[in-house]
Amino acid sequence: MTAHSPAPSSAPKPSAPAQAASAVTPMGWMHTARFLTTAAQLHHLPAMDTPEIAFVGRSNAGKSTCINTLTQKKQLAFASKKPGRTQHINLFALGKQGVTDAVLADLPGYGYAAVAKMDKLRWQQVMANYLVSRENLTGIVMMCDPRHGLTELDDILLEVIRPRVEQGLKFLIILTKADKLTRSEQAKALSIARLQAGGGEVKLFSALKKQGVDEVAQLLWDWTHPAGAAASAAPAAEPPEEEPEALDE
Ligand code: GDP
Repeated sequence: MTAHSPAPSSAPKPSAPAQAASAVTPMGWMHTARFLTTAAQLHHLPAMDTPEIAFVGRSNAGKSTCINTLTQKKQLAFASKKPGRTQHINLFALGKQGVTDAVLADLPGYGYAAVAKMDKLRWQQVMANYLVSRENLTGIVMMCDPRHGLTELDDILLEVIRPRVEQGLKFLIILTKADKLTRSEQAKALSIARLQAGGGEVKLFSALKKQGVDEVAQLLWDWTHPAGAAASAAPAAEPPEEEPEALDE
């Protein structure tokens, strides 16, 4: 750390950067998401020191829709579903003015029956290695369709990450498609998932009703900007409107 002497009182106030920082809102920040790179194997991922948040979940849990809703970009995570990329880790950069201050890692959905067994095993290995050894990994977001609850593969993944969560890795279970549940079903799903989250957080989320979107964006911001509470203090700016995706009614 370099010691700075206090600015003389006649010096102009450094208000511009401070104002720019306080104008950042979690939703505006999420909207800066842009495709960074894709990798089929761990050693093909660039080593980074930017905080990284991994999105994992069973195939069809609503992960792509959730990422697209959070980033307000209709197609962003569907890039991960393009032929040739379905078994890849896709990285998206976040940060204003092209400066990357966090990375989202979209991991392929697991449990898809049509994938050949060898491919599944290979993929599970890549994913486990990533979750255990990615050094800049700051948090994991697990998507779960509360109508099915956590599946066996979700439980295996929870076991894999448990030691890192105990060491302080952030963890969030998102209960997707909450619009398909009644209020009492939502409350029940929340309390069950809280027991399973092992100290992590749980949030209800609906892309259709925009439920939980701001809260999740705020949490991801807090995870990746632990010292800067600027976004929480900033007035909420309206995110740019985009056409809603076609969702299951
Ligand atoms: P992924 O395989 O985990 O990426 O899942 P998708 O994002 O492709 O979503 C799977 C299905 O669930 C799609 O038919 C989506 O339209 C639907 N879906 C996702 N999120 C929601 C939601 O919040 N509400 C409703 N009603 N449907 C959703």
